[in-house]
Amino acid sequence: MTYPKVELHCHMDGAIPYRLFVKYCREDGLVPEGVSDEQWIKDHVMTETMSLSDCMGEFALLTGILQSADRLEELAFELLKDMYESGTKLVELRFSPQSHLNENLSMDEAVQAALRGRKRALEVYPDLVCGFLLCMMNFGLNLGTLENNKATIELAAKYKDQSVVGIDLAGDETATPIESYAPMFEYARQLGVNYTIHAGESGPASNVMFAISQKGGRIGHGIHSIEDENVVNELIRNNFLIEVSVTSNFFSRCVPSIAEHPIRKLWDKGVMININTDDPELMGIDLKHEYDVIAKNFGFTEREFILSNLYSARASFCEGREKIISELTKALKECE
Ligand SMILES: [Zn+2]
Repeated sequence: MTYPKVELHCHMDGAIPYRLFVKYCREDGLVPEGVSDEQWIKDHVMTETMSLSDCMGEFALLTGILQSADRLEELAFELLKDMYESGTKLVELRFSPQSHLNENLSMDEAVQAALRGRKRALEVYPDLVCGFLLCMMNFGLNLGTLENNKATIELAAKYKDQSVVGIDLAGDETATPIESYAPMFEYARQLGVNYTIHAGESGPASNVMFAISQKGGRIGHGIHSIEDENVVNELIRNNFLIEVSVTSNFFSRCVPSIAEHPIRKLWDKGVMININTDDPELMGIDLKHEYDVIAKNFGFTEREFILSNLYSARASFCEGREKIISELTKALKECE
């Protein structure tokens, strides 16, 4: 059965299509002479697990080639196009405006560039539902400053009516205690900005508990909630959706193996789950790959996938999601 897919957790830089990745690396003189496109891609796709902080290091190359407005616009356009054409009809893309400031771009200009890319995508695919989440960064890699994170919230408020649908806290979850971001979420609430928080990815269940206390409704990953029954119950009681990325969690060593990923356990307990790629380019995967992995390893049925997409569409911050919700509701009925 065909039904619209919903992807809410995809980092734009980690999702750059290979054709753009190679093009920008060549334009910037990063590809050594004699190295083919295929080899260059192979050298930069993860084939083994890495610590989350090493994964963050890989991002330095990706953000490094994304320092101009033209490239950010092209990336947003091309990525949305690829996602739509592969059946993802409701998309939230996220990126950190403060990671694109090396060549005199301002955070505001970075956001405007992404919005232009979205506008172009909608001209071609008018029924695509999509928006952006702007990521605040955890300080561990000195990528962010308090001021930049604050400015990120303000930008989300400024472009709220132009498809910036909220903010996120990304980066290295273990770098700075997550509780220290509470004033940021308080500020976001004051400005009417939605948010999701990376929590319980590499960090403990207590980080998920913190995220629940912030009432955002969604959590990036949240998989370590499985270690504390109390936290799992709170996720359910507060109707939280967790944005899960199975392959990414394995590659970044947040779970010891795919088989030990808690997705099935959490789902069976009643936690609402959204299925995502996180950083598909970096991991050499796409959304179909994730569905295949989850079906094969955890026996998810088509009905469960549709239900997961329905939960995700309901939890999305995007305007216009109602039509996706009704298509998924219809698909679910046909399954019964
Ligand atoms: Zn993420």
